[in-house]
Amino acid sequence: MIYLDNAATTRPAESVIRKAGECLTEHFGNPSSLHKLGLEAELYIREARKMIADSLGTEPENILFTSGATESSNLALRGAAAVYGKRKKKKIITSAVEHASVRSTLNALEQQGFEIIRILPDEHGRFQAEDFIRAADENTCLISMMLAENETGRLLPVPEVFRRIRKKFPEIILHCDAVQAYMKIPVRIKELNADLISLSSHKIHGIKGTGALYIRKGIRLTPLLTGGKQENAIRPGTEAVPLIAAFGEAVRLMQNSIPERLEQTQAKKDYLLKLLSDMPEVVLNSDTDKNYSSPYIVNFSVKGIRSEIMLHYLEQKEIYVSSGSACSKGAKSGVLSAYRVPDSLADCAVRVSFSEETTVQELDTLVQAVAEGQKNLIHKK
Ligand code: PLP
Repeated sequence: MIYLDNAATTRPAESVIRKAGECLTEHFGNPSSLHKLGLEAELYIREARKMIADSLGTEPENILFTSGATESSNLALRGAAAVYGKRKKKKIITSAVEHASVRSTLNALEQQGFEIIRILPDEHGRFQAEDFIRAADENTCLISMMLAENETGRLLPVPEVFRRIRKKFPEIILHCDAVQAYMKIPVRIKELNADLISLSSHKIHGIKGTGALYIRKGIRLTPLLTGGKQENAIRPGTEAVPLIAAFGEAVRLMQNSIPERLEQTQAKKDYLLKLLSDMPEVVLNSDTDKNYSSPYIVNFSVKGIRSEIMLHYLEQKEIYVSSGSACSKGAKSGVLSAYRVPDSLADCAVRVSFSEETTVQELDTLVQAVAEGQKNLIHKK
C-alpha cells in the first residue's frame, strides 16, 4: 500500500497506540474520581497538556482538550463571537480558503447577524497581509486565518497579519487553524501572536477524536456545552483520556524533528514536482515557492480525467490519494476556485500529501500510475 493522504489523516504511531492502550487497560479511571485510579488518569492528561503547551511555548493551563480541531474552531469562533461580538463589533475577517470547520462556523455566525469579510488571494494565488489589515477596523471583533491550507498547501501570512493587527487593533481576537502546520512547520505562540489556536491529533500520528484549543490567558469564551467542571468548565464532559494521552505522545515523538522533516519533505516535494512538470496535460494547483507553501501537500490536475476516476484508478493499485479536502467528500472545492483554478481543472484535482514515511520510490510508483491512468482513462470522462 502507498498511503499519500496524510492531510486527511495519518497512521497512528506504535508508541501512540501503546500509550492509548495503557489508559484503556490499566489506567482506565475517570480523571475526576478522587481515588488512585482517577489520579493516574489525571496524570496522563497533565503530561499530555504539558507536552502540547511546551511545543507551542506556553503554559499548560492555556491548553484545552476537545474532540478535534472542528470542535476547537467552533468553540473559538462561536465562543469569542458571543463575548466580543457585542453591540457594533460585528465584523469578522477570514480567508476565502478556510477549512469547512471554520468556513461553516462563520457562515452560521453570518446568519446570526455578523458581517464576514472573506479575503481572496492575489492573481498569483498568494495572500497579501495588507489585504487583511486594510479590512480591519474598530468594528472588527475577530480574525480567523489558517496557517497552512489543507488542499494545496499554501501558507498564509498569519504571523505578519497578527503582529500588525495586535499593534493597530489590540482588542481584536485572533484565531488560527494550525492543523496542517502543527508538527510540520514551527508553530510557536511568540511568533504567531494568536489568541486562539486549533490543533488536531490525528494529523500528526495521533488518534482520531481529539484535538486542542490554545486559549491565551485572559481571553474569555462562552462554552458550547454545559455540564461538569472539566477543562475549566469551558469544555465539560469526561475527558477522552486514552486519546489525549496518545495526542501528547504523538507530540513527544514529532516535536524535535520538525526542521529535519521539513527539509526531507521539501526534497520529496521537489522530486514529485519535477516528475509532474515532465508530464503533458498535468497542471499544478499548488505554489512551487517554498516560502508560500507547505512541503507536505501537492495538488495537481490531470486534464480531462475527473478526480474521482483517477482516485479510484490509483486505489486499484493500492495508492491512496485525495480529490481535495477529505471533509468535502467529492463536493466541488471552493478553495481551488478562490485560487482561480477553472472548474474544468478543479474537477480533475488530485491531492497528494506526505508523511515522513513517504519514500521517493513511492512517488515514482505514483507518477507511473498517474501516467498509465492518463492513457487508460482518457475515454472514460
Ligand atoms: N482544519 C484543517 C485545516 C483540517 O485539515 C482539518 C481536517 O481535515 C480540520 C481543521 C478538522 O480537524 P478534525 O478532524 O480534528 O476535526
